[in-house]
Amino acid sequence: MRLVTLHHEGRRRVGRLSGDGRQIDLFATDGTHGALPLVQALVAGRALPPTDGSVALDGAQLLAPLPLPRRNLFCVGRNYHAHAKELRDTVFKDNAKAVDAWPIVFTKVPECVVGPTADVVLPDPAITTQIDYEAELAIVIGRGGKNIRRDDALQHVFGYTIVNDVTARDVQMRHGQWDLGKSFDTFCPMGPWIVTADELDGTDTRVRCWVNDELRQDASTTDLIFDLPTLIETCSRGITLHPGDVIATGTPAGVGMGMSPPRWLGAGDRVRISIDGIGTIENRFIQETHA
Ligand code: MG
Repeated sequence: MRLVTLHHEGRRRVGRLSGDGRQIDLFATDGTHGALPLVQALVAGRALPPTDGSVALDGAQLLAPLPLPRRNLFCVGRNYHAHAKELRDTVFKDNAKAVDAWPIVFTKVPECVVGPTADVVLPDPAITTQIDYEAELAIVIGRGGKNIRRDDALQHVFGYTIVNDVTARDVQMRHGQWDLGKSFDTFCPMGPWIVTADELDGTDTRVRCWVNDELRQDASTTDLIFDLPTLIETCSRGITLHPGDVIATGTPAGVGMGMSPPRWLGAGDRVRISIDGIGTIENRFIQETHA
């Protein structure tokens, strides 16, 4: 099942992609919080609401499936072997071990999430000039829990979606802690929907990213340093995870920072991310304008 949030006839709706992938069947329920109430309902064993119409996918105005996640997104840094290697020649060289003992975990604020085709706004150049993309598989937690054991972890996955963990590298490095450089308004494109875990093996899928049609990232989640069960185990150590929580699992090699010289995003650039078994998001980058 693919849960979709969209803007339709002046309001936010939530629906389910039809079997042939051509239309969205709309649920007769309040769509304000996107797919979150549906995730919560299914986890609690309740039925989905009835549908009350449908709209063609082609031309639909898709929003992030979780337009405002219930709290900060958990995000994992430096989690693909090839990406860890490319960072050894960057500003991370002083602490870029081949493999860390523990996952690097930081967060993005919920308010930076935008839809799968929304514009990403480049902040004022006085704030940052080093904008980078990070294609990532994101886990959407289903059944919550604390101290989830690795062996049980995949049972807590509701499904998967795509995020672009857009990053201001200069700000990321400036503050010792990454959250500011990761949380600018619009810095988390998400979508195009949530694919439930019964339809996708997130532990073995292909992640690709293009900038203006140039392929920059191409990897399988089999290259993860810390696999999905380990990430769920780690994030739930002493912290209760709740249905609808999001864990972005890290990005493959090929980010702009890893190039020599680095290649930052600018106004007019388009970043497209595809993950096999999920779909594609594509976002244009625009310069912030002052009214
Ligand atoms: Mg990332």
